[in-house]
Amino acid sequence: MPVPPRTLETLNAQIVNCERCPRLRTHCTEVARVRRRAYAEWGYWGRPVPSFGHPRARVLALGLAPGAHGSNRTGRPFTGDGSGDFLYPVLYEAGFASLPRASSRDDGMKLNDLWITSVARCAPPGNKPTPEELRNCAPWMDAEMTLLKNLRVVVCLGRIAFDGLLMREHRLKSIVLRSRYNFAHGAEYSLPSGLTAIASYHPSLQNTNTGKLTRPMFLEIFKRARLLAGLG
Ligand code: SF4
Repeated sequence: MPVPPRTLETLNAQIVNCERCPRLRTHCTEVARVRRRAYAEWGYWGRPVPSFGHPRARVLALGLAPGAHGSNRTGRPFTGDGSGDFLYPVLYEAGFASLPRASSRDDGMKLNDLWITSVARCAPPGNKPTPEELRNCAPWMDAEMTLLKNLRVVVCLGRIAFDGLLMREHRLKSIVLRSRYNFAHGAEYSLPSGLTAIASYHPSLQNTNTGKLTRPMFLEIFKRARLLAGLG
């Protein structure tokens, strides 16, 4: 990592210039060049996607990676694809988002008490970052969580995000055995670092279109996060 950033803003500025994963950088650039026909008029972002939210957030929503034609197009987490269309209405209803729909970086959306990030910041082919790419990206998450001084609860969106958080706790020596923590939708763990982890299914179309993750199930996760974070 370059000079350790002192603010989340500086960190985001460093992230968007990251080139650690050649495979992912090539993929994102190529997707941005070719574009999907429906978005032919868009100038795709095509860079690592910076995090989004309130710097004094008590809750972190930790995702997997940007969508090729979602965040990789718009430049903001969960903005512009099916996952975001499912997530933001729930965040709005739970009191974390100012608008019920996210469409672009300049749609006026503000988050309250919430920060959104992911374990990989570049869109991976097939939505599958390699273990090495996840390791490359982990220092960004570590730096970010250090800067989020008020953080109390981490909502892990999917198993890979859950594992990413456990690996971070392991690096910090907060936990020794990751095998003690099992991923299941709605599972909660008080971590020795003082954070509470909540596991959730990822709001991918694969999960939401099949009914594996419903809106009431997802809303319950974020209501629970509010409560555990002392937000009432
Ligand atoms: S995935 Fe993370 S580490 Fe890899 S190039 Fe993107 S921002 Fe850098």
